[in-house]
Amino acid sequence: MSGFVEKPEPVEVPGLVHLHTGKVRDLYRDAEGRLVMVASDRTSAYDWVLATEIPDKGRILTQLSLWWFERLTDLVPHHVLSTEVPAGAPADWEGRTLICRPLEMVPVECVARGYLTGSGLAEYEENRTVCGLALPEGLTDGSELPSPIFTPATKAEVGEHDENVSYEEVARRVGAETAALLRQTTLSVYGRARDIARDRGIILADTKFEFGFADGGLVLADEVLTPDSSRFWPAEDWEPGRTQPSFDKQIIRNWLASPASGWDRHGDTPPPPLPAEVAERTRAKYLEAYQRLTGTKWE
Ligand code: ATP
Ligand code: MG
Repeated sequence: MSGFVEKPEPVEVPGLVHLHTGKVRDLYRDAEGRLVMVASDRTSAYDWVLATEIPDKGRILTQLSLWWFERLTDLVPHHVLSTEVPAGAPADWEGRTLICRPLEMVPVECVARGYLTGSGLAEYEENRTVCGLALPEGLTDGSELPSPIFTPATKAEVGEHDENVSYEEVARRVGAETAALLRQTTLSVYGRARDIARDRGIILADTKFEFGFADGGLVLADEVLTPDSSRFWPAEDWEPGRTQPSFDKQIIRNWLASPASGWDRHGDTPPPPLPAEVAERTRAKYLEAYQRLTGTKWE
């Protein structure tokens, strides 16, 4: 079982049409046909959108995305047009709203990995490949790969897992030319971001991008290089051969998996609300990632 513990009702704003309630973001279309993406403070773990929110999370992730977009535009244009909150929207939308260019989305989750862990590690342990790409012997959880790899996945519905697919499968779905462009752009953006993060003491282990087309050109969409779409590891604690500490929802996952939560993640009851202390520590982690990367203090 999975899904929303409590599915939120969309906020009604005059002039906006509600399009979609995602796990984390709410999407609207404005009168000019632009896409309005509002990042909530919702969080998901073990395929559930939890009942407890992490205060400011949507704002922190939105500001971090914007910070990255600016540092990538010479490699690929991005979709953000404005951050102005639409007239009549709740004051709480400030800082968490992106007005975006509507794109023809490419139905591929473009993942780049520079380090081995997660679903990549699982596949590697089975047959020494990730997304069908052969890798050398001797790698372990957290190992740096000989060079970063493009490991695409297909997008799943709420509550389902994304599925890793081969490059050939992507080429079949979107055409050889687009597949090549996705791979090249994903790896060049990853390389840039990895270097920037490394300078700030953070390992960007892997990350996911979404792209779309506008006027025939590829545009970077969605959110980018946030703890929700990436694995960030504190460089000083990196030690292959174990699960790496990370700047994300690990605190939540650990608590949910512990006896303290009383929750059986393989059963079919929804997860319980988080203790305030767990939510607060998670917020602090997101803030730490933001502050380390951008070098600015969160106001
Ligand atoms: P989740 O990411 O939690 O699995 P989701 O993808 O359904 O859920 P969100 O990520 O919250 O929901 O919503 C963002 C949606 O908007 C995604 O479907 C994404 O592909 C789409 N999107 C992002 N940027 C654009 C854009 N510029 N034009 C059109 N669609 C976009
Ligand atoms: Mg999404």
